[in-house]
Amino acid sequence: MEIIKNPDAMTAWADQMRARGRTISLVPTMGYFHEGHLSLMRKAREIAEEVVVSLFVNPMQFGPSEDLDRYPKSFDQDARLAHEIGASVLFAPGSDEVYPPGFQSKVEVAGLTEQLCGASRPGHFTGVTTVVAKLFNMVKPHFAVFGKKDFQQLAVIKKMVADLNFDVKIIGQPIFREKDGLAMSSRNSYLDADERKQALCLYQALQLARQKVAGGEKNAAGLKQEIFRFIAASGKVEIDYVSIVDCRTLSVCREITDKSLLALAVKVGKTRLIDNTLLKGDS
Ligand code: AMP
Repeated sequence: MEIIKNPDAMTAWADQMRARGRTISLVPTMGYFHEGHLSLMRKAREIAEEVVVSLFVNPMQFGPSEDLDRYPKSFDQDARLAHEIGASVLFAPGSDEVYPPGFQSKVEVAGLTEQLCGASRPGHFTGVTTVVAKLFNMVKPHFAVFGKKDFQQLAVIKKMVADLNFDVKIIGQPIFREKDGLAMSSRNSYLDADERKQALCLYQALQLARQKVAGGEKNAAGLKQEIFRFIAASGKVEIDYVSIVDCRTLSVCREITDKSLLALAVKVGKTRLIDNTLLKGDS
């Protein structure tokens, strides 16, 4: 596996591979790999001949009071894991190379970014779409793999690709969970033992909602209230949002259908966790 830090070197590598007729898949990450990241890399390896894993903690997608400075890092272990999965390249550019002095451009998707995490993290998705657009231009992938854990991010990127005619196929992968159901996340490393227990309320809430729907619940507002109460009663947690939305448009559902998605964002201690599930069928 090659480690490439310079964007021009990355593009030269991609041009060379494309000239040889090789297909490229990209897995964008912020590092501190867990099994969720590795599942995306395995998928990427299945669908293309060359896998590029990018590792970049993107300052543009963090708000001023968020955790950019303390975001967990483990470069050597990440490089080892990506190598073991069979990645061709770990692309780890520096911040100054992605945003050189004088950088002035932004890529912004409207509509889909206004609700859910977009409402509580102003500017977050502009940071995401800007860096992902840049990564697409640097790595020239045929495929890019993203996790459904960040469901809104996946929807926003699909929209950007469609709206701006990027020639890349976006693949969404299922949420990878710990044995007890907690969705894997680099940010889980912030949780102390007590918070780790409390964090389970997100998964329990998703399960409860699916049970209610399987039992005939059709009213989205009623179910939302019940889930809100369940999480609020789970201990010292602070609810950012509990939303039931159409998974295609992210607009609020009145009635629960097979497209309804329950999305949660909850702060446990200082750590903001997100999770989601479709309410019917495979989650
Ligand atoms: P991050 O490093 O947190 O920015 O995540 C990089 C990619 O991994 C994103 O596409 C995430 O949606 C995905 N991802 C993060 N956690 C999980 C998980 N538990 N299961 C599946 N994909 C995940």
